[in-house]
Amino acid sequence: MANDDHGFATEQVHGGFVPDADHGARVPAIHMSSGFLFDDFDQARDRFAGTDDGYTYTRLGNPTNADVERRIALLERGAEAILVSSGQAAATVAFLGLLQAGDHVVSAQSIYEGTRGLLLQNLGRLGIEVDFVADARDLDAWAAAVRPNTKLFFAETIPNPKNDVLDIAGVAATAHRAGVPLVVDNTLATPYLVRPVEHGADIVIHSASKFLSGHGSGLGGVVVDGGTFDWSVSPERWTHLTSPEHALGGRSYVDAHGTRAYVVYARDVISSRIGPTPSPFNAFLLRQGIETLSLRIERHSQNALAIAQWLDQQPEVTSVDHAGLASSPFHDLAERYLPRGAGSVFAFTLAGGEPAARAFIDAVQLFSRMTHLGDVRSLILHPATTTHAGRTPAERAAQGIHDGLIRLSVGIEDVADLLRDLERGFAALRGAEQHAQGDSLTELQSLGHTVPEQHVIAEEI
Ligand SMILES: *Cc1c(COP(=O)(O)O)cnc(C)c1O
Repeated sequence: MANDDHGFATEQVHGGFVPDADHGARVPAIHMSSGFLFDDFDQARDRFAGTDDGYTYTRLGNPTNADVERRIALLERGAEAILVSSGQAAATVAFLGLLQAGDHVVSAQSIYEGTRGLLLQNLGRLGIEVDFVADARDLDAWAAAVRPNTKLFFAETIPNPKNDVLDIAGVAATAHRAGVPLVVDNTLATPYLVRPVEHGADIVIHSASKFLSGHGSGLGGVVVDGGTFDWSVSPERWTHLTSPEHALGGRSYVDAHGTRAYVVYARDVISSRIGPTPSPFNAFLLRQGIETLSLRIERHSQNALAIAQWLDQQPEVTSVDHAGLASSPFHDLAERYLPRGAGSVFAFTLAGGEPAARAFIDAVQLFSRMTHLGDVRSLILHPATTTHAGRTPAERAAQGIHDGLIRLSVGIEDVADLLRDLERGFAALRGAEQHAQGDSLTELQSLGHTVPEQHVIAEEI
C-alpha cells in the first residue's frame, strides 16, 4: 500500500484503505461485533487453522481495528502494526513479546513515568531487570550497560517534559552491536515528525491517545514492528521465536513467519492472550484523528516554537527546554531528526519555584490544567507535584525537573490567544510579588476581579 508517489498527507487519509465491497461506504464501517459468523463447519475449522484468514473473534482481530493498523504501519514505514487499548498496553505487549524472567533492559532515564513504573514495578516483579542511562546522548553509557542477558534497548524519540531529542541512529547502532533490538516510543513526535524505523529502530510504540488521535476523546495504543530485526542471528536469545517447542504446531515462529515472527508472536501470544483489545469505536475515533495528523502537527509545532521563543524573553523565566531553540543542547539532534518541527510538548522554569508555578498555573484560563498530551487544546501541568511527584527531590534535580518547572502541551489554537493567556500567568506572578509588598492590585485579584493584564505587563517591562 506504500506508494512512492504519495506524500504523508495523502497517505494519512488514503493509506491502507480497502473498499467496502458490500455497500461502497467511503468511510469504512465501525464493526462493533464481538464475533464473526462462519458460513459452515469447514470455514470454522479453516479459520482456527489459519488457512482461511477471515475473522473469528474481536480480541484476535477486527476489521475496523485492522484498517487502522494498516494505516499506522504504513505511516511509520513498519511491516505490521498491532492496535491495543492504550499506550501502556502497547509498551506491555511490545516488552512481553521480547522479555522473560532473568532478562535485562537498558532504557533511557527520561521516559514516561508509566513506562518507568511498568519496567520497575511490574516487569521487575517478574524477574526482569532494568538499567537506566542518565544521558541518552552518551552512546558509550548505553554500551557499558549491556549484559549477557540484555534483550532490548528502550527510549523515547522526544521525552517529556524537557523536549529532549533521541539520537535514534546512534542508539540503534549501539543496540545492534549488542545483538538486541531498539524499541522506541514515538508518541510525542508522531511519524509526521520522524519515522524511527528509517533511522534504525526496530519496534515503535505509541500512545495513540495523544497526537495520533488529537481530539482527546479516547485512549489507544499501537505496536509497530519494523520487520527489520533478524531473530535467527542469535537463536538462543529468542527461543520463544526460534524454537519449535514454544510454538503450538511444531514450527517455530521464525520458521513459520520469517521476519514477521515477532509481530505474529506479539499479536497471537501476548496481545490476544492478555487481551487489551481496543473497542472498534475507539479505533474509528483514532482513524478520524490520523486523517488530519500532518495539519495538526504543523500548527502545534509552529505555535510551540513561537511560545518557546516568547517565554525565553520573559525576565521571570530561567530556562526554556525546547529543542527548536538554538540554545537547546538538543538543537543539533532536532535539526538532524526533526526538520519539520521539534514537537509541542516542552517545559519552562520560573525563577520563583513552586509558589510561582502555582500562581502561574492557577491564573491561566485558556490552557487546561490537565495531565494529557497532544490534544488540540493547550494543556498545562506542574510535573514536580504531579507526574514526577513519585521521584525524590534529588532524582528530580538530576533530571532538571525543578520546582518552578511548568510543562506545556501546546495546542492548535490561535497563538496570539495562547500568548495572551500565558501573560495572565505572568501578571499573576507580578501581582503575587506586589502582594508581598501589600499592593492593592493583588487584593483586587483575590476578590475575583480581572486585572487589566495589559496594564500590569506594561508596568513591569
Ligand atoms: C501517555 C503516554 C504513554 C501512555 O499512554 P496511555 O495511552 O495513557 O496508556 C506512554 N508513553 C508516552 C510518551 C505517553 O505520553
